[in-house]
Amino acid sequence: MPHLGADVAAYVDGQLSDAAMRDASTHLASCDACEKAVRQQRLLKSRMSTVATPTPPAALLASLAGLAAEPPAREHWWTRWGRSVPFRAGVVLVSASLAVIAAAYVVGGPRERIGDEVAPPYDRYAATFHGTSVIPVGNAITEAAMVELDDSGWPCHQTLADDLHRVSGALTNDDEVVSLSYSDGRSSLRLFEQIGVLDPAALDGFEAQEMAGAQVWVRDGDPMIVTWDDDGTVFTIVTDVSRDRIVRAVADLPNGSGERDLGERVGDGLSRMSAWIGAA
Ligand SMILES: [Zn+2]
Repeated sequence: MPHLGADVAAYVDGQLSDAAMRDASTHLASCDACEKAVRQQRLLKSRMSTVATPTPPAALLASLAGLAAEPPAREHWWTRWGRSVPFRAGVVLVSASLAVIAAAYVVGGPRERIGDEVAPPYDRYAATFHGTSVIPVGNAITEAAMVELDDSGWPCHQTLADDLHRVSGALTNDDEVVSLSYSDGRSSLRLFEQIGVLDPAALDGFEAQEMAGAQVWVRDGDPMIVTWDDDGTVFTIVTDVSRDRIVRAVADLPNGSGERDLGERVGDGLSRMSAWIGAA
């Protein structure tokens, strides 16, 4: 039987025919890639029902609205937040998850393009980019849930490109897209993650380019859109930051630019952690 492809969501929701469910189960027993897609889809659904908060607290909305309206004059709130103990614990967790991901790549063998072909709603992303809210429409994801998602192959980094800080996360598009907002107080970057591979038919107006050693598709404009897929996940960046910062953001995310580089980075991280533990 071929890969589950477009049937991953229907399989998780139990919406296939009995025969199709049986075929899918048989296939899943011997296909790591499809099994991973099903696991990711289940995780999204469960995160939705257990840890997502339907509406963000009013106080948080108010403070974020203030953040968007006026550039912070003194210390960024995330600077204070970054000094907190939970933040530093999060950094260690992210390092640990990188090691797990690296191990998965080492044992995973050659990668193939797999999954449902998807066409992110680029025009809608662009149209809503300059809106007043920094929170995407959808169900806000709690901080704890973002750490869990990060651990499970949905990158929810605290920062991208060194100085873009995560200000919110939400599940959007019928809870099938992880949407993250980053900002440095002036410029914004939205990151969308969803299961699947890029639908080439939806890339009219995009130009194939290389960024950070990765093959990506770029649509110039305000905002600029950069989209690519890696290992069954489609990543889309919508942003008004400069190109060199976009390149650094792409470098921070899974981008298929080479397992050896990732392994080296993880190795560096692990030695840094060992050094830190040894010094403690
Ligand atoms: Zn398969």
